[in-house]
Amino acid sequence: GRRPLIAGNWKMNGLRSSVPVVEAIRDGLSPELTSRIDVLVCPPSTLISSCVAAVYGSAIAIGGQNLHAKASGAFTGSISAEMLADLGATYVIVGHSERRAYHHETDDGVHAKALGARRAGLCGIICVGETQEEREEGRTLDIVRAQLAIGVPKGAKASDTVIAYEPVWAIGTGLTPTPADIAEVHASLREMLGQLIGAEAAKVRILYGGSVKPGNARELMAVENVDGALVGGASLVASDFLGIAAAY
Ligand code: 13P
Repeated sequence: GRRPLIAGNWKMNGLRSSVPVVEAIRDGLSPELTSRIDVLVCPPSTLISSCVAAVYGSAIAIGGQNLHAKASGAFTGSISAEMLADLGATYVIVGHSERRAYHHETDDGVHAKALGARRAGLCGIICVGETQEEREEGRTLDIVRAQLAIGVPKGAKASDTVIAYEPVWAIGTGLTPTPADIAEVHASLREMLGQLIGAEAAKVRILYGGSVKPGNARELMAVENVDGALVGGASLVASDFLGIAAAY
């Protein structure tokens, strides 16, 4: 079976004074739980070094929230996969809806970034998801399948690729799709992955993200083909994040 992954995305939140949050997450995870699930925190880039140091020797992984597709060059303000890996990050989020909405990221750009992540030995968490309008128009499956088909590089492996389904309208709103709706999307994504990468698709983890909280995690994580969560707001509070991990 697929090993669940509970991932936190801190977004643009956290100063050095927030490092104790990751320490509290570290201290709150039992060896029994981390023998069964993977746990990841993606702080802002400014905190990656201190978070890597804080989780040293523990089961927690640290990741980036974005990357530039190229390894180096004249790209002022950007950070490459190699730079993230150099800090000790092992994952990176690719194509989050906030990057797509506010930084005009395209599916082709997501593809290039996913290749960059693989080049540097990082596991890329490729995000897909429909807007409210697209859902109302009945286009959800078309949208997420197209995002996946363009975004996922050829030869993607479970070791270098995770998919996250994050409906845009569920992010930070307290709204979530029904378990049946999530099951439909995740089944469709896995089927599409099968077309793209063959038998490896069965091994790739597909996370759900969007208003995951301790109170709904058990129900959401029990949905067929849901292999974990990508958690925003609730990952900023150690007890909430731990409560979500406890769904497993
Ligand atoms: P929330 O959990 O705050 O809804 O955010 C989800 C998300 O965007 C994680 O990447």
